[in-house]
Formats: sequence, C-alpha cells, structure tokens
Amino acid sequence: MKWTQVSEQIWRGKGWLIFPFIPVHVWLVRDEAEGGWTLVDAGMKNMAQGVLAHVKQLNKGPIRTIVLTHGHIDHVGVIDAIVEETGAKVFAYAEEIPYMEGERMYPRRKKMEFNVKRGLAQPLPVNEQGELLPVGGLTPYFAPGHSPGHVVFYHEGDEILLAGDLFTSNRSGSKLKRPMPMFTADMDQAMKSARIVEKLKPRQLEVCHGSAVLNPVSQLQAYLNV
Ligand SMILES: [Zn+2]
Repeated sequence: MKWTQVSEQIWRGKGWLIFPFIPVHVWLVRDEAEGGWTLVDAGMKNMAQGVLAHVKQLNKGPIRTIVLTHGHIDHVGVIDAIVEETGAKVFAYAEEIPYMEGERMYPRRKKMEFNVKRGLAQPLPVNEQGELLPVGGLTPYFAPGHSPGHVVFYHEGDEILLAGDLFTSNRSGSKLKRPMPMFTADMDQAMKSARIVEKLKPRQLEVCHGSAVLNPVSQLQAYLNV
C-alpha cells in the first residue's frame, strides 16, 4: 500500500481493486481526544497488513475506531483483521447496517450482501434530536444516494471532507465526478447530497476511488448542471 499525508492529522492509504481497475482509499485520522487513530473506510481484505504496518510505523497508538461511509464490499475488507488486533469499535449509519449485514438487499442489486459480521458495526452516535455526533475526531453527515445510509466525515481542523463514494473524480483531481452509476442506489438522491460540499466548504475533498479535489465548492454548480 502507498501512504500519503493529506493534512496535519490525516493519512491516505491506497490499494487497488482489480475489476474495475480502480484505486481504493482508506484514511487514518489522528484521534486527538483519545490518542491513536480512527480508520475511515476499510478497503479490501488484502490491505490489512498495509494498514497495520503503517499504524505501527507512525508510532502514535493503535486504531481505536473504524467508521464506514457505507457498507459496500470494497469499504469493509480490513475490519475483521483490525478488530482482532486492536479491539477497535466499528460504526456506520444506523440505516446502512441491515444492508451490509445481509438483512436487506441494497437497492438495484440482485443478491443480498453479507459484507460485515452481524452485530459488529454499531450505529453512529446521535443526540436526542437524532443529529449525528462527532466520533473519533470527525463529524459525520448523512449523505445518502450512493447507498441508503451513506455518510461523509468532516475534519474541521484540517478542513478535509472524506466523502467515500458520494463522488468520484478524474485522475488529476481537477474534476468532480458522479459516483459509479452501476453501484449507486439512487443517483438523484446522491446529487442532492452533493450539496454538503456547499455547507461545509472543505479545503479539500477526498474520495475512495479517485484523486483528491481541491476547493470542491468551486465546481459544485457545474457538477449539478451536468
Ligand atoms: Zn460504494
């Protein structure tokens, strides 16, 4: 795996999916309150050693928390290995959990997916009004469409938005692109969720399958008008 420091508190790790041949990113975010790291998305199974080796090399404590943007198979692969090694807690948006545990079928798919062991992922914490609360140094925002319970994670200090599969981008990162249609449950909803970029105005947007996009709000209108 190749690791790149994205900002003061965030590292991006890169693996590869073979079909289609695309990069698969995960992120390590410093958990300043607890010490150690939060892993955002969990890539492919074969990335486990690469993740653990990098955490060891950084020498700032273990992964304490794993947060998932959603439960597709290329976003959950290293969970078992990390939990076994560190006892990390795993969180996803409540509505996403039945889909990734094989209790409900993802919209537009033909088969149930058993991507995460039942009971392993806990719902992201919410307050009494049902609003998502910060976890592991990041603030989650509900951004459905690519999957029914897709969330994105914002790092306020570093102004980085970890957007999972809410978007993709072109190779140079100069262009914000739609999520892959074949794997997207509801494209119209995903387009509406894109407005989170307007609300947060991140300095940089990171996607699982593509390059980082600087100042994404400058592209939002063009993106929505395509
Ligand atoms: Zn996905």
